[in-house]
Amino acid sequence: MNRASGDSARAGEARQGVPANTGRVDLHAHTNVSDGTDSPTALIAAAVRAELDVVAITDHDSTAGWDEAAEAARSAEVRLVRGAEISVVHHGLSVHLLAYLFDPADPDLLGQLSRVRSARLDRARSMVDLIGRDYPITWDGVQEWTTPGTTVGRPHIADALVASGSVSSRDEAFTSILASDGPYYVPHFAIPARAAIRGVRAAGGVPVIAHPGAEQRGRTLSDAAVADLTSAGLAGLEVDHRDNDAATRERLRRLAESLGLLVTGASDYHGTGKRNRLGENTTRPEALSEILRQAYGVALI
Ligand code: AMP
Ligand code: ZN
Ligand code: FE
Ligand code: FE
Repeated sequence: MNRASGDSARAGEARQGVPANTGRVDLHAHTNVSDGTDSPTALIAAAVRAELDVVAITDHDSTAGWDEAAEAARSAEVRLVRGAEISVVHHGLSVHLLAYLFDPADPDLLGQLSRVRSARLDRARSMVDLIGRDYPITWDGVQEWTTPGTTVGRPHIADALVASGSVSSRDEAFTSILASDGPYYVPHFAIPARAAIRGVRAAGGVPVIAHPGAEQRGRTLSDAAVADLTSAGLAGLEVDHRDNDAATRERLRRLAESLGLLVTGASDYHGTGKRNRLGENTTRPEALSEILRQAYGVALI
C-alpha cells in the first residue's frame, strides 16, 4: 500500500497526490467520541472488515478521535481521512457540514467547535431536565453513556431512555420523546454556515454538505441556498446517503454539476447506534482525489 504521504504535513504543504488502492471510499463515520458506539480503534477494525480502502472519521463537532484513529490506521490495511461533522445553521435551518483534512489546531475553528460542544452540553441538560419530569432518567444516568469530552447529543439521551425501559431503541426514542418537533426538544447554538465554510477553508480543510436531501430530518437547503454556500467556498454535496431518496439524489447530482461541486457518498456509520452499515454508500476515487488536491490542513494517513 502506498504510504508516501505521511501525516506530518502542515498547513500549506500537504497538497496531496492520488493514493493507490482507493476503490472503496466511505467518507462519513462516527465513533464514541460523539454518538457512534465504536471506539476510533474499533472503527478502523470495522472498516477493514467492511473491505474499505479509505474511511473518514467524522465525529460531531470534534477532532478528539483523530489521534487514536490515526494510530490504528497506521498498522491497518485502510487509509484514514481525518474529518468532522460540524453543526451549522443557514437562515434558521440546521445543516451538517462535513469538513475534511483541516488543521485541528486552527484557533478560529477550534474555538467554534468548542463553543458548539459546550452549547450541546447545556442543551442536553435542559432536555434531560424536561424529560426527567415525565420519564425516569437523570443527568447522571445520561452521562453513563458518555466519557469526558464526548460531544453529547440526543443519542446519549436515547441510550438512557432505553436503559430505563422507556423506549426499546434509539430509533424509537427519536420518533417519540426526542423528536425535533416534540415538547422536549431544545435547540443548541450552531455555527453560521458561511462562516463555518470559510473557517474550514482557512484551516486548509474541504467542506461538504452532509445528507443535503434528508427531508425526514426537517426542511432542507434550497438550490439557491446551496449556490450561496458555494460562493462561500463549499466544495461538495454528500449525494449518496441513505437519507437522500432516489429522486433527491438525481436533483442533487444535477445541482452539483451545475455549480461545479464534488459529489460524495458515505454510510454515516454509528456502530450499533444506527442501522447504517460501513460502505453502504461510497465516494468515487476521483472525488477523493479532488478532496486531497484541495486540502492542505493535514494529510491522508
Ligand atoms: P443531535 O445532534 O443531538 O440533535 O442528535 C442528532 C443526531 O442523532 C444525528 O447526528 C444523528 O446521527 C443521530 N440520529 C438521528 N436519528 C437517529 C436514530 N433514529 N437513531 C440513532 N441516531 C439517530
Ligand atoms: Zn450522529
Ligand atoms: Fe448528520
Ligand atoms: Fe453523521
